[in-house]
Amino acid sequence: MPRRGVTRWAVWTLPAPVLAVLLVVELLAAVTTASSIPQGLTQLPHDWALVMAVLIGAGILSTEASLGVERMRHRSDESPHIDLSSVWTFAAAALLPGAAASAVVLGIYAHLYARVWRGGIPPHRAIFSTATVVLAVQAASAVTGLVDRDALFKSFPGLALVVAAVLAYAAVNMVLVVAVIVLSGPNRDLATFLHVLTRGDEAVLEFATLSMGALAAGAMGALGPAYAVLVLPPLIVLHRTVLVRQLEEAASVDGKTGLLNAAAWHVRAARALRRAERTADHAGLLVLDLDHFKLVNDRYGHLVGDHVLAAVAAAVRAEVRDDDLVGRFGGEEFVVLLPSTDGDDGRIAAVTVAERIRGRVAGIRVEVPDADGTVVVDDLTVSIGGASFPADGADLSQLLEVADTAMYAAKRAGRNTVRMGLHAVPSGAVRPAPRRHHS
Ligand code: GH3
Ligand code: MG
Ligand code: MG
Repeated sequence: MPRRGVTRWAVWTLPAPVLAVLLVVELLAAVTTASSIPQGLTQLPHDWALVMAVLIGAGILSTEASLGVERMRHRSDESPHIDLSSVWTFAAAALLPGAAASAVVLGIYAHLYARVWRGGIPPHRAIFSTATVVLAVQAASAVTGLVDRDALFKSFPGLALVVAAVLAYAAVNMVLVVAVIVLSGPNRDLATFLHVLTRGDEAVLEFATLSMGALAAGAMGALGPAYAVLVLPPLIVLHRTVLVRQLEEAASVDGKTGLLNAAAWHVRAARALRRAERTADHAGLLVLDLDHFKLVNDRYGHLVGDHVLAAVAAAVRAEVRDDDLVGRFGGEEFVVLLPSTDGDDGRIAAVTVAERIRGRVAGIRVEVPDADGTVVVDDLTVSIGGASFPADGADLSQLLEVADTAMYAAKRAGRNTVRMGLHAVPSGAVRPAPRRHHS
């Protein structure tokens, strides 16, 4: 019998630690909001109803104005922790006591959910996101509530408090969301946590929106709630900037594997080589071609073939460093640029990586569900050709030619092998040069 109702909620599929964090955060959000009501009632500004209405209205308006951007962000972006509506939720935290600010969050997020998220992300994620924002708002509001809010925007100590509130807001929000991303991902450790927290310019964008929130609050508090109107145009421009950045990202990524596509890889690899040239570094280049891949397609169909390609891409990515450039060159051909390989002339590092990749691909086991059970592909191998910079070529095209030739030599040598350099020497022949002894 199919499961119905609450037992079918996606939330139950989460790992236990993630579920625990989710529940604790939601409980905390509810408790802090409820307990901030009594004090909030005594601290409400005289025009609180108007301020709340303007903030919710502005939040709704900016969501609507940028609906395309928001939809696209949530379709293409795995990290939902940056949301430009923090302009308005932060302004609420600066202008209102905690409970009222939480009410503004609920208003804005209810609308965001109905218009953008519904159908796209499961309700438990939406509730968790809302709860983290409520907690962030509570933290920021507690900071700004340390002084009389009327004085907040008119004094220098007030500015310091606003900055402290920005930091409190960002810290609570990002730490909680990133913690869940890390807990639900494959690597649960501090290094991954810090990497997710600091990657890209997500943090910059977060601070940009919070600064705008502080400015919005300042204008509304000092001049009147209507001044929120002036924040909308720059906010829409900021949204567009985010969109452009995401489209740029999307345009450089191969959809099937998530690797760089050929054009983007070329641009970045050439740039990395020029950098290596300036700093007199060595670099390595690998060209990979799956062995008898046509057979996989013929035997199991293209759909399974595509799953296999994605698994190979993940395997290659897992064997190289973060700043190594991995691209999908053509059908089942991949390229890897290893900038600044250390040791001797860089060939040893390139061979070591190539051998690791070769071994890992040979160990891949891909399971794809199909109509009559599960298809298992576990007999993959790859042939790899390598070239090193500057020994094998002075620019990218020369290196590609050498590595490609070496790859074909690997095929001729029986596949599932690595060949290096101009003379396509077997990987075992690449050994550290004997050290000279000075006597
Ligand atoms: P080998 O390289 O060992 O000589 O044999 P091969 O069978 O891999 O030969 P080749 O590299 O020439 O064939 C590439 C095959 O990869 C042809 C095509 O069916 C398959 N292929 C290319 N792109 C895709 C793709 O995007 N998806 C799938 N499923 N298959 C692809
Ligand atoms: Mg090929
Ligand atoms: Mg092939």
